[in-house]
Amino acid sequence: MSLGARAIPCTKSASDKGTHEMAKTPPALTAAQTRAAEVFMRLVARYPGAQCSLDHRDPLQLLVATILAAQCTDARVNQVTPALFRKYLTPEDYVRAPEGALEEVIRRCGFYRMKAKNIRGACATILERFGGKVPQTMDELLQLDGVGRKTANVLLGACFNTPGVVVDTHCMRITRRLGFTKSKDPKKIELDLMKIWPQEKWSLWSHLTVFHGRDLCTARAPQCSQCPVRELCPFPETKEGKRIGK
Ligand code: SF4
Repeated sequence: MSLGARAIPCTKSASDKGTHEMAKTPPALTAAQTRAAEVFMRLVARYPGAQCSLDHRDPLQLLVATILAAQCTDARVNQVTPALFRKYLTPEDYVRAPEGALEEVIRRCGFYRMKAKNIRGACATILERFGGKVPQTMDELLQLDGVGRKTANVLLGACFNTPGVVVDTHCMRITRRLGFTKSKDPKKIELDLMKIWPQEKWSLWSHLTVFHGRDLCTARAPQCSQCPVRELCPFPETKEGKRIGK
């Protein structure tokens, strides 16, 4: 199936219905969907290993790592979490951690007091409302301290096979430069992206933009002349693109 096309479920043939009704064909792709499909394909070719860059082995570890990643690089979080995950294995471990002990381990991630408070709060809610397991729906995940739509979509996509668009700083910048959205509001960007690709592409798009944002499409000096989607991207022709694009 081509990108953007959706199969229409067919439970009865035209003859079953006793009519000469023509079978419905999938809706044609819009120009934006066709361009988006090509961009997607080229970025997949450039970054075949694109995936969640926070090290984790289970949903609880990813939840904690994602909370730690706020205002911090994934690389720094990955340096801190091995020691953390050796010490804290369950939500109870985090909730019962002596005052100051958790903070000490995560200090290098910055904003460590607030992050420790969010981790403890999220784990307490997991124990009280969700039987000790990280919940698997957006509505439930949003009940956890320190979890917004971005974190919830990271978890849904990476752990629960439920695709979601994670709109972080890379995704926002690259999606805007490519002209797939005009908005600066992460929720609206999420909705705009959900319209141009089928569901199974949503999570991977977020990973691709992280890889592309670190490699070529950086915030300050995008390397447009080396970019595999150069001729599909309007940014280099804009005033800003002419000023900062290389
Ligand atoms: S052409 Fe430039 S602005 Fe557009 S995606 Fe590539 S690096 Fe980014």
